[in-house]
Amino acid sequence: MDRIRLKDKEFELFIPEEEIKEAIAKVAERIRADVKGTHPLFVGILNGAFMFTAELMRQLNEPYEITFARYSSYKGTSTTGVVREIMPVQADVKGRTLILIEDIIDTGFTMQYVMDKLRKDGAADVKLATMLFKPDSLKCDLKPDYIGIRIPGDFIVGYGLDYDEMGRAYRNIYKIVES
Ligand code: 5GP
Repeated sequence: MDRIRLKDKEFELFIPEEEIKEAIAKVAERIRADVKGTHPLFVGILNGAFMFTAELMRQLNEPYEITFARYSSYKGTSTTGVVREIMPVQADVKGRTLILIEDIIDTGFTMQYVMDKLRKDGAADVKLATMLFKPDSLKCDLKPDYIGIRIPGDFIVGYGLDYDEMGRAYRNIYKIVES
């Protein structure tokens, strides 16, 4: 499928599944080397990172602890600038090293907020793994520890990412076609 339509928007194939999996495998290898012999708590950020989280944890194939949290900041194709905590991290983070698993960093405000909050909640260290990173859109001093693929600022869907709750289930990533 090279083109898809979601509601009023048209999208074209941008990153095929194989490329996404290769990028995730590289992230997994770097994490594996870094966390060897430690007991980090992985935190999948819902909803967007559900596919990335599953693939990353499958690639790691280790007895690591994994939990979830949910935040929201997007409406349609643009960020609202206000981060809402919909479901806090489902574990005691005090003294733990956390590795957050996020779908995409755009302005960076969502993860900056979340990482600050978790540090305030007593986490010993908070690291960030993101499947996608839009470096040109970054508006704060956020440095992801692990990055899958760097992309331009266009709005994308698929592999967990949605347009108004549609398109998350596609296994490829699609880019918006501006008309
Ligand atoms: P930020 O706070 O970095 O601006 O935005 C992070 C969140 O915005 C991500 O978790 C994701 O939910 C959403 N987001 C950012 N860029 C895109 C995009 O291109 N497509 C989709 N579907 N969501 C995006």
